[in-house]
Amino acid sequence: MINLANPATSYPDRKPSIPAQPSAPLDSSGSMMRPIATTPELRAQFWQRFALDELTTAEWEALCDGCGACCLIKFLEDDDAQTDVEYTDVACRLLDCESGYCSNYADRQKYVPDCVSLTPDKLVDMMWLPSNCAYKRLYLGQDLPEWHLLITGDAVATQQGMREAGVGVAGRCVSEVGISEEELEERVVTWIEV
Ligand code: SF4
Ligand code: SF4
Repeated sequence: MINLANPATSYPDRKPSIPAQPSAPLDSSGSMMRPIATTPELRAQFWQRFALDELTTAEWEALCDGCGACCLIKFLEDDDAQTDVEYTDVACRLLDCESGYCSNYADRQKYVPDCVSLTPDKLVDMMWLPSNCAYKRLYLGQDLPEWHLLITGDAVATQQGMREAGVGVAGRCVSEVGISEEELEERVVTWIEV
């Protein structure tokens, strides 16, 4: 399951944000470590052959590209599809803004109690996810981005592709710690495509 968080920040005129984070673990060097399309855990081309609710846990988690966009604080208007969203470059307090990964994934709910799990049935209300997000793309009947690790099978090529596509929050965000509501309003960014 991909875990989402809803930091306990509230805004008078806007819905609270719902950041999230990939669930793939980091290896000992802090680099992305995730299964690729050929591992025994993953059925070949599973994302094309099975519905989201038919995937194994390993397949479900392998879909996350680790962009970290869903861990950013965002303003959501109260529409049904939740497509009316403004992202900020302010991240959940547990996000490591250099790596773009959760700094305490195992215990995250102790520190961010509203961190919730992304499941197929929740996607209908999560069209605020970025356009690169595999969960949203598959839900909408689209294919994975060409740079996705499940397509390339090569982490270096994927990282290069993500950089070229401008995808990923690593090195581009700041922690919510110490950020006031007024500052938050001023930190809306346009580099996340929904
Ligand atoms: S791919 Fe989706 S779930 Fe994974 S980090 Fe990016 S926005 Fe979040
Ligand atoms: S607690 Fe971790 S996984 Fe959850 S939103 Fe914050 S950084 Fe992301």
